Amino acid sequence: MALENINQFIKETTELTLKNMWSSDVAKELCGKKVPDGIFHENQSILQADATTLWLRWFVESVCSPTHYIEDTSKSEVHIYQDALVNINSAFPSSPKAYREELATLISKKIYSDVKVERDIGRTFATSEQKLKLIASTSEPRCWICGYKFTEEALDQFTKKKGRNPIELPKLVDIFRPRGIHINDVRIDIEHIIPVSQGGQGDENLALGCGWCNRYKSSRTSIYDVTSKPYRVKFKLGENTRYELPNPFWIVRMSATHQKCQHIDGCNKTVKNAELFISPANNSGSPNPTNLKVFCSDHDPLVFERSVSRESAKEVWANKRRKIIFDFNDED
Ligand SMILES: [Zn+2]
Ligand SMILES: [Zn+2]
Repeated sequence: MALENINQFIKETTELTLKNMWSSDVAKELCGKKVPDGIFHENQSILQADATTLWLRWFVESVCSPTHYIEDTSKSEVHIYQDALVNINSAFPSSPKAYREELATLISKKIYSDVKVERDIGRTFATSEQKLKLIASTSEPRCWICGYKFTEEALDQFTKKKGRNPIELPKLVDIFRPRGIHINDVRIDIEHIIPVSQGGQGDENLALGCGWCNRYKSSRTSIYDVTSKPYRVKFKLGENTRYELPNPFWIVRMSATHQKCQHIDGCNKTVKNAELFISPANNSGSPNPTNLKVFCSDHDPLVFERSVSRESAKEVWANKRRKIIFDFNDED
């Protein structure tokens, strides 16, 4: 990482925002600044990919809002194409007709595939045969996102075994990923990694997920689908007082994308053979998406601190909710 580039970037952008961040001239200058490589602790590709897909979505939806088609189920891809073409014709009147039509096709395909997900078209549930096959395909069934090893009780419940013992909540939970505050967190969910309506099919598209990861993943795809700031809540962890918690979806996004321990010397722990944890790369830094790393328990810098009683975790996370009750981005 070239530190002089980072320093230069911070100097220039800070000066500009201090000048007047509400000025359009300042915005134009800021948009010309390239974010230097090396400031994202290996999360650069995820952050940029998610920004790109968000901008794409905003552009596509500015041509045709999908909400209308989700509500009105009589509308098909053809209707979206026709509506899109009208808007494209008025926005790009001097472009060649073939390009305008191609754009309408691209946009209507994209919107209709999102509409299908929202309308729940093509949603299929896994058969018990598929469930058993998934369990049998590995000696240690784990969550595909975080590597959490399912308990015997959860497996028995998943396969509807007769005479099974009830699932118990854990006494200790990870403060950053408090799986086990609710019973559903430790249940097994089956997931289509790519939604069926978007072409996902076959057994290899199915995966087992823990209830916690599944709940926070929901239908979100971009880290910018949730708030940009960590939650503010004061709590003690080991000897240290901490003031922030990461948004659960950031944890899901980082875990699901890396799926392996990111220890600097290399490590063979993956979601297939170990439970993985999220820690701030810089422990005293803010747990935001540039500063989150995936670790196995051998390399986890917070290994002795992260486990807290279920009750304490519940209280800390409940407090975080009260404090941001008016943040409408908070959907959990
Ligand atoms: Zn999980
Ligand atoms: Zn490791």
